[in-house]
Formats: sequence, C-alpha cells, structure tokens
Amino acid sequence: MSEFNLIKQHFTRPTHHTNLSVGDDAALISIDSGMELAISADMLVAGTHFFTDAEPYKLGWKSLAVNVSDMAAMGATPKWATLAIALPHNDAQWLSEFSRGFFACANKFNIDLIGGDTTRGSLNICVQIMGEVPIGQAIKRSSAKVDDEIWVSGFLGDAALALAHMQDKLALSEDVFDVCAQALHTPQPRVDLGLALRGIANSAIDISDGLLADLGHILEASNVGATLYLNSIPHSAHLGAEALHDKYIINMILAGGDDYELCFTAPIEKHAAIIKLSEKLQLPLSCIGLISSDISLLVHGLDNEILDIKETGFDHFS
Ligand code: ADP
Ligand code: MG
Repeated sequence: MSEFNLIKQHFTRPTHHTNLSVGDDAALISIDSGMELAISADMLVAGTHFFTDAEPYKLGWKSLAVNVSDMAAMGATPKWATLAIALPHNDAQWLSEFSRGFFACANKFNIDLIGGDTTRGSLNICVQIMGEVPIGQAIKRSSAKVDDEIWVSGFLGDAALALAHMQDKLALSEDVFDVCAQALHTPQPRVDLGLALRGIANSAIDISDGLLADLGHILEASNVGATLYLNSIPHSAHLGAEALHDKYIINMILAGGDDYELCFTAPIEKHAAIIKLSEKLQLPLSCIGLISSDISLLVHGLDNEILDIKETGFDHFS
C-alpha cells in the first residue's frame, strides 16, 4: 500500500472543528475570539515508553490520551491533534488496531486528527495536541499559594505496579494485575475535571512521572513547599488494607509514573466546592496536604513520622 493510501485508510476520519484537514500541505483551523491556543506534544518511543510488542489498540489510545491529559492539566478543551509516526513496516492489521484505539480516544474527547507525518523507521509515535482556553484562564504550575490545599484525582500507583509486574520486579495476583494494567495501558485523561477547575484551582499538573516529581514541578514553579500525609494519598482498594505498610507499594504511590491523574492546589475556601465536584464527576478527589512557605517537601507517614522520601528515588530537593 502506498503511503498516501495508508494515510487515507488509517488516519483520515471526518472532522468537526477544522476548516481543512488531512490531505493538503497544512491543516487550517479557526480559534474562537477570546480564546487562546494550548499546545503540547509527547513522543512515545518503542522500548523506552512501551514494549515493542504492546497491543496496538491500547498504544493508539495511550499515545493520544497522554497528550489529552496535558490539556486537562491546563484547564483547556482539547480540539485538534497531529500524529507523526515512524513505522518499521506496513502492517495493515497493526495499523488498523492502532488507529482504532487512537480514534476511540479522539472520539471520546471530540478531537480532530488534522494532519501529521508517516515515515519508515523504528516505531516512534509523536502526537501534538492543541486545545482552547479562555484567555488568561489556563491553570498553570506557577500559581500555587501558601496554605493552598493539595488535591489529587483518582488513585495513584496502579500503573507503576503493573509495569513493575511486567518487569518481574514484583508479582501481583492476576486480579490485581488486571486492574493495574488498565491504568497503565488505557489511562483516562481528566478533561472534565480540568475544565471544572478553572476558577477553583490555583495550580495544576498531570501526574506522568510520579506524584512527588510532578508536585515538585508545581512547588519549584511557584516557589513554595508542601506537607503531605501518606494516609490521605489515595490508592486502589484492591491493593488491600496493608498496602500502606508495604514500602514498595508506598514508593509506587508516591513516586510511580504513568498515573495521568491531576494534582492541583486550591484555596481552603474551595474545599466544599471540590467535594461537590467530586460527586458530580463521580471521580474521587482527595485532599492530601498543604502548600507551605518553607521550601521543602515533607511526607508524614502513618505514625506521623517524617518519611525519608529519598528512598523513593525522589531527589528533587537534594
Ligand atoms: P507533505 O509531504 O506535504 O508533508 P505528506 O505526504 O507527508 O505531506 O502527508 C499528506 C497529508 O497527510 C498531510 O495533510 C499530512 O498532514 C497528512 N498525514 C500524514 N501522515 C499522517 C498521520 N500519521 N496522521 C494524520 N495525518 C497524516
Ligand atoms: Mg507538503
């Protein structure tokens, strides 16, 4: 199949908010007045970000989902994406599954694939995403305020546990692995939450590299510190009652990557509104600590002792 036909068959679908889409030298889009463009890109490299034999459907979903998550973190509405992909060979079955997963995510979030590039090479997937946000209303990393409460959505650690299992670093039971693998392979970007947090949150980030590292970016950008409480950090019930007594699981919850949940900070006056939002979105939102003026990151353990977070591999302040 020619490159042209490959693009036509696998990467050309009807679009909804685009003046000109796949097929010309460039796509054309219009931005509503009063809005600004939010733009981000993420590259997924075989062997680094996924196993070479990864299921193509899930890979397609994830390669767009991790980008959508960046829009969520900014409080932006994702609208357009481009896909630059290097393929080792023209495997129609693989491509059709990959594009099915990619478009499942695109359809869920009403995103148009408007262009890209296709070339032969080691498997490498680079998605750029563009979204809209009212001018001045994007939620940045740099606006956390002293005494803000720190919140996270969903549960942390599942994706990293699945990865550790696949790397033979630990053995999960089949049931637990199945749940954790879903978090790893088909992350659910929190777009509705991000949009609802405009006007509520002072700062936000999506958790791709682990809670401590990503919260660390907020702290650094905002020139503040934080105190966290391990017993408030949410983990899946399937990890069992003893989860927070297991050092390895604690490390995964605090420092494991690939969760794609949102971590955000908000003034204490917004606490009740956030609890309401959690009910409305049917999404757990947990208050896990407070922003402090002291430039450090402290995590209190179950007996209120201060954890040595360097053990988690976290060295942001060292
Ligand atoms: P050019 O050579 O002018 O850069 P290409 O032949 O690379 O154009 O691509 C033809 C059209 O197909 C362009 O509109 C481009 O944006 C689109 N395209 C190429 N690869 C992809 C892809 N993987 N996904 C979506 N659109 C693609
Ligand atoms: Mg051209």
